[in-house]
Order: sequence, then C-alpha cells, then structure tokens
Amino acid sequence: MPIDPSLVPGLVKYSETKTLQKWKKDYFEKIAVALQVHTKGQLFSKVDTLFPNEHPDSKAHCIATYEPITKGSVWKGINNLLRIFSSSAFSINVGEDLHEWLEEYEYGGHNLLNYFLEMWVHKAVAEDPNGLFVVYPPDYAEEQGICPLQWVRSELIKSRSRDSISFVSELDSEVEYQYDTTATKREIFEDPSVGAMNARTCTVTTYNERLKVKVIKEVVHLFTVDGFIIYRRGDGSTENQFNITTVNFPEPLSIIPVFPGGGPVSDRADQLLFESFVQSFVPFGNLALLQHRNHRAVDLQFSYPRLSELQVPCDGQGCTGGKVKCRKTRLFPEGIMPCPRCKGSSFVTAQSPYKVYTPK
Ligand SMILES: [Zn+2]
Repeated sequence: MPIDPSLVPGLVKYSETKTLQKWKKDYFEKIAVALQVHTKGQLFSKVDTLFPNEHPDSKAHCIATYEPITKGSVWKGINNLLRIFSSSAFSINVGEDLHEWLEEYEYGGHNLLNYFLEMWVHKAVAEDPNGLFVVYPPDYAEEQGICPLQWVRSELIKSRSRDSISFVSELDSEVEYQYDTTATKREIFEDPSVGAMNARTCTVTTYNERLKVKVIKEVVHLFTVDGFIIYRRGDGSTENQFNITTVNFPEPLSIIPVFPGGGPVSDRADQLLFESFVQSFVPFGNLALLQHRNHRAVDLQFSYPRLSELQVPCDGQGCTGGKVKCRKTRLFPEGIMPCPRCKGSSFVTAQSPYKVYTPK
C-alpha cells in the first residue's frame, strides 16, 4: 500500500514537533563518547579536568605525552568479535529472486552481508551503539549510488514513534565536518556580588578533538512500513512549508526498515537504550588511563624537579671545598688531594635513572 498522501503532512508535522527527547540524545552521546576514548583513542577528558589545582606544568606534561594505550586491547576484543561473526554460518531463507540478487550484489568489494558486518562492527560496536541502520529499497540505492544499507549517527535521529522513524540524512543534507577544539561547560561558583551560589557557562579548550558534523541545511528521511518521505524546508517560504518527495515500497513491510545498531540493553524507556558489546571494557580502560596519567604526573613532579634538591654539599670526612688533607706524596706534594667522595666538586648528587641536575 503506498503512503496515503493525505497522511503526509501529519507525518512531517509529527517528525518536526515530536523530536527525540534531549535527555536521550545526551545519553546516547555520553555512551558514544565514553566508548570512543578507547576505540578511537581520543583523549580521556578526566586526564585534563580531574585535578584542577595541580601544577600547570604537570598537567601540560600529561596531555603532551598522552597516548591511547587502551586502543590495542579494545580492538583485540572487537576483532575477535568480528572473526566470530564472519566465521559463523548463517542461513538466510529468501525467495529465489532475492537470493539471486544477494548472490550478485557487490558494494565496495563486499557482498551485502559482509558490508553490513563491517559497518556494524565499526559503527554499532566501536562508535555509537544507538545509531540507526537504515535499509533503502535497492532500486533507490542504485539510483543514488549508495549501498542499500546506511548508518545514521544517533545525534541525527529526529523522531521516533511506533509508526514512523525520521532522521537527518547526512548524504542529502548540506553538512560541514570539523574537529572540535573547544567544549562548553557549566560551573557553579560562589558569587560575592549576589552573596549566593551562581552558575556560569564557559568555553574551555578540549584536547579531545572529535569529528563534529554540522548540518547547514537539513534534508529529512522519514520511514514508515509503506515507504519513505524525503522532505526539506522550501527556500524562502514560511516555517511549515516543505518540499516533499515520497518513495513507496513495492509491498508494505512488516517492520520499519530502520533499526538501532544495538548491543546489550543498558536501560529501557519508551524505547531500548543500548550500550556497545565492548562497553564493559570502558570502566577498566578509563581507570587504566587515569592510573597511567597519574603516574606520569608523579614522575614529572617528583622524579625530575627533585633532582635539584638532591645536590647537597659533600659530607665526605674532612672535605673542604672538594679537598681533603692527605700524606705528602710525589703526586700530592702539598698534602692536599681531591676528596674521594665528591671527586673535588664539593657537592654530592644522588643519581637518578635519567641524569644529574646541576643548578647554576
Ligand atoms: Zn668531598
């Protein structure tokens, strides 16, 4: 059954007004960010923020020497997962035509199932488990030069109900990519001018340079079981005027062909909220990074600067200015020789594994 044209304005209105709740998007982002610290080796934000009162040199050292040491471990897990899936036997029962199509189909050197597996591992497992997978009709995909299977970042989901799911199409919309270099944070402080607690929002440098997608002009894809609607705001028209294109499926489907990448269910609200299959690594990985970061801070503060305190006047017996009295010999006719402890320098310095610091 094609999408009833009289229902289209209502569907678009629903998609525009009943957008995904902010808490959900925040939650999805939190899960994705925590995961990407390890899967993508992004700087763990606590490395920067956890000790606001530490010496700036120490913090700078920790940030400058930061290495994503947990990336290897988590990818070993993910690769094992990929191997298990790709070596498992699946049987798919479909009609002859579809079977033939699946046999022949190739995109980027993969058949459809391998393409999905690869993308699923990289997106749902390693990046954003609440992002959506969308299956476009093969004819439409071929026309657009895309694989029928596409992935949607969770931040681009627009609305979700039992009858429809809509999202901003990254392919069709005008988008800009950029690396985030600042972050906005809100802090509570005691404000003497009002004699009470106050809040301020400030922009701070973030060392966690994540790729950000900025949508300049959005084009929304809205899926139902009967087909999908592509809509964009008309140019220079009023708020609620849209250019709408409808693509009907040849047959109504039993489910909307849009599904979350998923993983273990971390919680459920009116929809399931997912974590990645490797999310259980996150707490351990965070602690590993934090421990290592603290070790580097301690190393900097206590190994290197302390060397200056360790150069002390020589305590060798009878040492004066690096000289000690001795028997007059041919080598030391005056009866004075360099102190055997400080070798004539009058200072002794403890050795570190690195070097000896000599103050001027
Ligand atoms: Zn000495």
